[in-house]
Amino acid sequence: MQSETVSLLIELVKRESVTPDDKGCQALISKRLEKLGFVLESMPSGGVTNLWARLGSAAPLMVFAGHTDVVPTGNPNAWSSPPFAANIVDDHVIGRGAADMKGGVAAMVTAVERFVTSGAHQNGSLALLLTSDEEGPATHGTQAVVHQLQQRQEQIDYCLIGEPSSTEQLGDVIRHGRRGSLGASLVIQGVQGHVAYPHLADNPIHRALPFLHELTHIEWDQGNEHFPPTSLQISNVQAGTGATNVIPSDIRVEFNLRYSPETTIVHIKSTILQLCNQHTLKTTIDWNDSARPFITNPGTLTDALQHAISHETGIRATLNTAGGTSDGRFIAPTGAQVIEFGPINATIHQIDERVSCTDINTLSRIYESVLRQLLG
Ligand SMILES: [Zn+2]
Repeated sequence: MQSETVSLLIELVKRESVTPDDKGCQALISKRLEKLGFVLESMPSGGVTNLWARLGSAAPLMVFAGHTDVVPTGNPNAWSSPPFAANIVDDHVIGRGAADMKGGVAAMVTAVERFVTSGAHQNGSLALLLTSDEEGPATHGTQAVVHQLQQRQEQIDYCLIGEPSSTEQLGDVIRHGRRGSLGASLVIQGVQGHVAYPHLADNPIHRALPFLHELTHIEWDQGNEHFPPTSLQISNVQAGTGATNVIPSDIRVEFNLRYSPETTIVHIKSTILQLCNQHTLKTTIDWNDSARPFITNPGTLTDALQHAISHETGIRATLNTAGGTSDGRFIAPTGAQVIEFGPINATIHQIDERVSCTDINTLSRIYESVLRQLLG
């Protein structure tokens, strides 16, 4: 006999909601929340489906946040079970989005259902924030909803994002912040010419090499107790006309920094521009400030979650800030406590993505316990 959480997960995986298509996932959830008395607001923006569903108006406001979109399947024939069939094999639901993050979404919906129907909801209010654009550009998703909430001064106090944070076993890792991400597209100009007449040209590749060597050896900071040291990685380098006898006119270099709050974006930019000057480079540079770092210090929300996890699993969860960026970056600047906790992330974005049925049932109980502690 399948649990409510597993049944809902299967329903969600069967909807082929590749970013930014929601394919009815939020409508399905809306119907269930409406029965509980939630006030529903769809907040579509730029082709993205967003849902804000709230129960109650008192403070504090506790929000479960997540996304209904999934990344593409890759070659469907490479899957051991069709990626949108949601078959159960060895107590695991197999399907695109099962772990990232329809498992978390199903667990939060059933946790809310049990919490509300049991009459345990005594204090504050409760909301769900769902978007169909977390895996894509994310401009019209959570960011757009948060913008509307801020305009009408609707303040989120606690936010739990159901992203798959667990690593080895359910409950081992809670993310309580994320590093910042700063991208750069750099073009170094030279003068094109014949390789046999280098005095008439200026080789941008030769100029770039010592510069890039120094760039990759800058020590930005040491990190701190919550963040690893800032790191810079070059992802793309392009130069050359294809001909073997031509010095090219320019070289393009793309790099990205994942940075801790010990370093500022202003410091990073000025250090790199200074290095360009020291190497007397003619450059143009485009920055992509895609995520600022954030941290939620241990407190009410982390305590409630750690308590729930140890009660349900016996595990003492550790807090860390590893991984890529997440929608938490849009919610944290409002002053909310924001953390992420969900299923094991070992198969996310992979062929045969899967989540354990046992784990999402436990996850749902953990979410319910957090609600009881904060709003009971
Ligand atoms: Zn995700």
